[in-house]
Amino acid sequence: MAEFTIEEIRTATGGSVQGEAAGVQFQGICTDTRMVQPGDLFIALIGERFDGHEFVKQALAKGAAGVVISNKPAEMPAGAVAVMVENTLKALQDIAQFHRRRFSIPVIAITGSNGKTTTKDLTAAILASKLTVLKTEANFNNEIGLPRTLLHLTKEHQVAVVEMGMRGSGEIAELAAIAEPTAGIVTNVGETHIELLGSLANIAAAKAELVEAVPSQGFVILNADNAYVKAMSSKAAGKVIFYGIEQPADIQADQIQVEGLYTTFTCRCYDAAFPVKLPMIGLHNVYNTLAAVAAAWELGLSAQDIQTGLDRFQPSSMRQQIERVGEYIVINDAYNASPLSMSGAITTLQQVAAGRSVAVLGDMLELGDVAIEAHQRIGRTAAQSGVNAVVTVGALAEHIVIAAREAGIKEAIACQNHEDAAMALQKILQPGDTILLKGSRGMKMEKILEMLG
Ligand code: ATP
Ligand code: MG
Repeated sequence: MAEFTIEEIRTATGGSVQGEAAGVQFQGICTDTRMVQPGDLFIALIGERFDGHEFVKQALAKGAAGVVISNKPAEMPAGAVAVMVENTLKALQDIAQFHRRRFSIPVIAITGSNGKTTTKDLTAAILASKLTVLKTEANFNNEIGLPRTLLHLTKEHQVAVVEMGMRGSGEIAELAAIAEPTAGIVTNVGETHIELLGSLANIAAAKAELVEAVPSQGFVILNADNAYVKAMSSKAAGKVIFYGIEQPADIQADQIQVEGLYTTFTCRCYDAAFPVKLPMIGLHNVYNTLAAVAAAWELGLSAQDIQTGLDRFQPSSMRQQIERVGEYIVINDAYNASPLSMSGAITTLQQVAAGRSVAVLGDMLELGDVAIEAHQRIGRTAAQSGVNAVVTVGALAEHIVIAAREAGIKEAIACQNHEDAAMALQKILQPGDTILLKGSRGMKMEKILEMLG
């Protein structure tokens, strides 16, 4: 964990130091009193449910060597070392940025509407075949998760791979100011969070903040098959590397084939070409892999390093996990959903299904004005792709069913809740069916799996 002197904390945050601070050193940074270790600096973050200032006394009792606060809690032990700042979250970010600047290593930041975590994990897995990698754990991609990740940098790390999420404009710029990425990957621009940003062009502009943040000595990796992402090249100060399948690109996949639960393709990196075997299916995962390969190639890894990394790759939970449940094959993609990822998952369903395919879909939330139309489109996509049956949960997803019926799917059932959906499924499922489970995180579609089991 990162170590700091009190002087470094003062410099990083611009705060005023109180208490018996001379010569004080911190062994690490902590924002959760349950995790405080003796010698830590405790930062009192103010969250929606908790105010860290209420835990300051407890943190000091557990051995914290000091605290960062924005207002003085009633019971401050005499002499306790406190750094008073205007905003404690900003202080955490400032300290993370200070720490990041201690290392002159490549920092690869990843943003996009879909596939950030998968691309991050793939990039980290591939790079780890050759280098010591720090990566964002799980989905800690926001204004708190990113600084926390950076604070784990040590001198052993040779590269960092960080995920950057956003809900509104300006947020990626803020995250980039903390992480100072030397490289950026933009996976795609789709309708995720359109409710807040209003249009795809606004979403694209917000993602492009990452491209703008990468300095001229750095490089950006852009999806050539997504027009909005491709256009971001005009905003890059340094090298641009395109990846894609359809459009000409520097890093390209050809001869894509699905073999069981694997995808194989020929990967072209500029003039080189080599076979790649990916332990996942779904065309979108080929894109995610190409982005990861582009980063690895640019950092000098070989075709063999890339395959070694992919062999060790483990997809994160509920992101297209394929499992056998009784007599069925289940594609559990219940982690989240957007129009782009849902139509991608339907393609995957059709690829995996040896017999009948059943799409069990929940509402896609946060789509604002385009919500109904987006659900209708999914219904039509399901029919065009040849999905045999559709069962939905939620009021928005009912529009999937209506459109699917119109487009010719006879078995299309709209349900209010998980129980009804499980009952409907029990009636229509046949041994050997392949089931896709997908919906927004709020829809918790994995519950249906428990009911089927
Ligand atoms: P979040 O915004 O929740 O952090 P994310 O961008 O990190 O999401 P992942 O967690 O990698 O995305 O993937 C979530 C789901 O999106 C996957 O289960 C898959 O269905 C879909 N997905 C992944 N990659 C892509 C892609 N490149 N294009 C479209 N859909 C994708
Ligand atoms: Mg993510």
